[in-house]
Amino acid sequence: MHRVAAQSIHPATIDPANPSFGVYVHWPFCAQKCPYCDFNSHVRPVLSGGRGGIDETRFLAAFERELTHTAQLTGPRTVGSIFFGGGTPSLMSAATVAAIIDRISGLWTVDPGAEITLEANPSSVEVDRFRGYRAAGVNRVSLGVQSLRDEQLKRLGRLHSVAEAKKALDIARARFERFTFDLIYARPGQTPAEWAAELAEALAMAGDHLSLYQLTIEPETPFAALHAAGKLVIPDADAALVLYDLTQEMTTAAGLPAYEISNHARPGQGSRHNLLYWRYGEYAGVGPGAHGRLVIDGRRHATVTEKNPERWSSLVEAEGYGFTEVTPLDRHEQADEMLLMGLRLVEGLDLDRLATVGGVRPSEATIDTLVALGMIERLGLRTTSSPVAGIEFGGESDEIPSCLPPGAGRSAEWAEVPRSPAGSNAARLAAAPAIRATGGGRFVLNEIVRQLSASFEPAD
Ligand code: SF4
Repeated sequence: MHRVAAQSIHPATIDPANPSFGVYVHWPFCAQKCPYCDFNSHVRPVLSGGRGGIDETRFLAAFERELTHTAQLTGPRTVGSIFFGGGTPSLMSAATVAAIIDRISGLWTVDPGAEITLEANPSSVEVDRFRGYRAAGVNRVSLGVQSLRDEQLKRLGRLHSVAEAKKALDIARARFERFTFDLIYARPGQTPAEWAAELAEALAMAGDHLSLYQLTIEPETPFAALHAAGKLVIPDADAALVLYDLTQEMTTAAGLPAYEISNHARPGQGSRHNLLYWRYGEYAGVGPGAHGRLVIDGRRHATVTEKNPERWSSLVEAEGYGFTEVTPLDRHEQADEMLLMGLRLVEGLDLDRLATVGGVRPSEATIDTLVALGMIERLGLRTTSSPVAGIEFGGESDEIPSCLPPGAGRSAEWAEVPRSPAGSNAARLAAAPAIRATGGGRFVLNEIVRQLSASFEPAD
């Protein structure tokens, strides 16, 4: 772990091969800690006599300083997305959100079509606040609905009701061009019929995007303690797979197919910011506990900031930034990260880009083994003159050019390579520069990444 002073780093010029750039702003406070959550979120109640609480002015000043420092590291960039995550960013005043967006606009060039997302909890939604966020430049909100059943919201430790969630969705729909919401499924005792009924209601209320997460037990959370004591039992892998398959079936039928393991969207309406992560783009992470991936002096660096909010703001006040790590990544580390991120996507991982960024390719033997096991599948690149006769083109063109990684900015459409024995092996490989995890494979992604990474061979 090492700290890097701004003056020791020369601003990098824009990498023309990878123009996409996003800014993540982490607001680390919540009104209450949910028992399943392991995010960097903290509760700061206001105590008697006005003690405690959150000094929003102090945090705004710290965000502005850390953004300024980060811009000194990156040099000029065109920002394609800004994401306010947390925590509960909707606890911020609209004036604070506006000031942060203004500072970002002053430091970098913000693309006129940039996606600017803010996460909100239904209980913190007020019409006036949403109006203010919209005026500040936010054009997309992500609501943490989590369940459409009141008794389940209580079990998840949420502060809002289903009625409040529905009201918040109505406000979001009226105020913003785009909105999305999250639901948690595979909850204790949840049957496929119960989930199907709840999901059908959600799909009827959905806009262009929906995030559907399976409940997972994260270490050192209250749910982990209950789980260890046998008092909280979540569906086993087989039951979870049934719920997952049901989810894919229903969302696809509703026109919101998955584009990532847990994220569903109408064509072209995926979250640009999250696609930036999964496509291994470049992004700044500011605020307590934020992570970033910055190209500094032509080399990708991983950045991490201090997690504790008050220590972070003290660090920023003292030094101008709260980074605790600015670590250069070697090509193998980049290749591993790219694998882990890219295999989450339905569009798959571009093996040519992996070779360009990481200098490696997984061995064909390992890919074949994983294909035979049903964990991954090969994808073919659609061209006007198909390299392989008989390919069914099921993919859709990507409409997010600012987020396209190098090598993928070619209006590619991906489709599964037919399993029939048509064509020679060489022809099949030439037409299959991408791989993706299958539905089943997405449950064992870490193992797939481990095997592919262990098989890396130098790309020539
Ligand atoms: S509101 Fe979100 S970030 Fe905050 S504790 Fe709950 S799940 Fe975690």
